[in-house]
Amino acid sequence: MVTIEEALRIIGDQKINLKSESKPLEGALGYALSTSTVSPFDVPEFDNSAMDGYALCGLYKEYQLVGEVAAGDAKDIMLQDGEAVRIFTGAKVPKNSTAVMMQEKTSVKDSTLFLDEMPKVGQNIRKKGGQLTEGQAVFEQGHILNPPSLALMGSLGLSQLEVFSKPQVNIITTGNELVKPGEPKTEGQIYESNSYAISGALRQFGFQQHQKTQIRDDFEATKAGIKTALESCDVLIISGGISVGDYDFVKQSLEENGVNELFYKVFQKPGKPLYFGRKDNQFVFALPGNPASSLTCFYVYVLPLLQKLCGYGSYGLATYQFPIKHAYENRFGRPSFLKAAVVDGKVEVLDGQGSSMIQSMAKGNALAFVDDGEVLNEGDLVKCKLIS
Ligand code: AMP
Ligand code: MG
Repeated sequence: MVTIEEALRIIGDQKINLKSESKPLEGALGYALSTSTVSPFDVPEFDNSAMDGYALCGLYKEYQLVGEVAAGDAKDIMLQDGEAVRIFTGAKVPKNSTAVMMQEKTSVKDSTLFLDEMPKVGQNIRKKGGQLTEGQAVFEQGHILNPPSLALMGSLGLSQLEVFSKPQVNIITTGNELVKPGEPKTEGQIYESNSYAISGALRQFGFQQHQKTQIRDDFEATKAGIKTALESCDVLIISGGISVGDYDFVKQSLEENGVNELFYKVFQKPGKPLYFGRKDNQFVFALPGNPASSLTCFYVYVLPLLQKLCGYGSYGLATYQFPIKHAYENRFGRPSFLKAAVVDGKVEVLDGQGSSMIQSMAKGNALAFVDDGEVLNEGDLVKCKLIS
């Protein structure tokens, strides 16, 4: 048995060979850059107007209007002192413009422009290189491509990005009692639900489930199922069959498939019978079958490994501190990840903390960490991971 910290350290310490690939801009969301990026040119590339209005030469309250520049126009106008041109947002300002006055503060009579106030030098002009200069570092290796990063890469004209590949993930569910939702069920059976939570959580963080297999509680079947699953994945997630019951065959089947145990059992609630192992460059998590345990272990342990395998500079869900809405004492005898709801900046520990209870997790949005025996008073800060 290891502590939560030891388990996370073992995951974080894994040496990994990252693979990279080229992705089109449209498909690069959530990938980490495998190379650093520098700006190929100044951004913006030319002085341009931040407003719809008038580009002015000299500082006056009246100007002679001499033309117009729209966004995308390439023309090079030279203004004389006291002249102005109509201009639109993003349009290239004439070279010797002193300022741009927004249209709302102007009036025009015949070809004379009148300003409501005196302009200021440089006002409403977005300067060439104001955001980035040619050759300037934009992103380091490992930068995670979020939507604004895609916009920035696009604005640099880059249509293919060099990124670290994402891991291929297979899922195995185990249990004689499990029936696929929608199919007939007999007494003693239950519907299989963990795989939907896990594949949903994979998608939530930009991963895909490659293959899903249901295996009966039978040693040979489990061994064969694991062998097949390991043929096509970087990470194998198994649900159930990892406890100490007579029908729990996963651990031995992993051993017989050459998977080396890195830890087994974590001093925590829920999710004590959690297994983590490695075979060369493949990783295996065997999650306890109870629905809340398996999903909690996914968020706390599986997600950081998956993100590390993507080359993320920092991985795992961030921890935030929120004041608790009510007094709470952890009497579970183990450090606990509690199903909780963070609303209006306060955390509430929800009813239904049992490992099999998924409803409270479904209605909440956080895992609140409360240490073994910890006594909290209303308003005390609690560490939370937001899961939705
Ligand atoms: P196990 O870890 O296999 O001993 O399973 C622990 C509990 O979780 C048992 O009540 C199982 O019926 C339940 N369980 C296991 N796997 C699943 C699953 N895929 N979906 C829903 N419940 C499950
Ligand atoms: Mg089972």
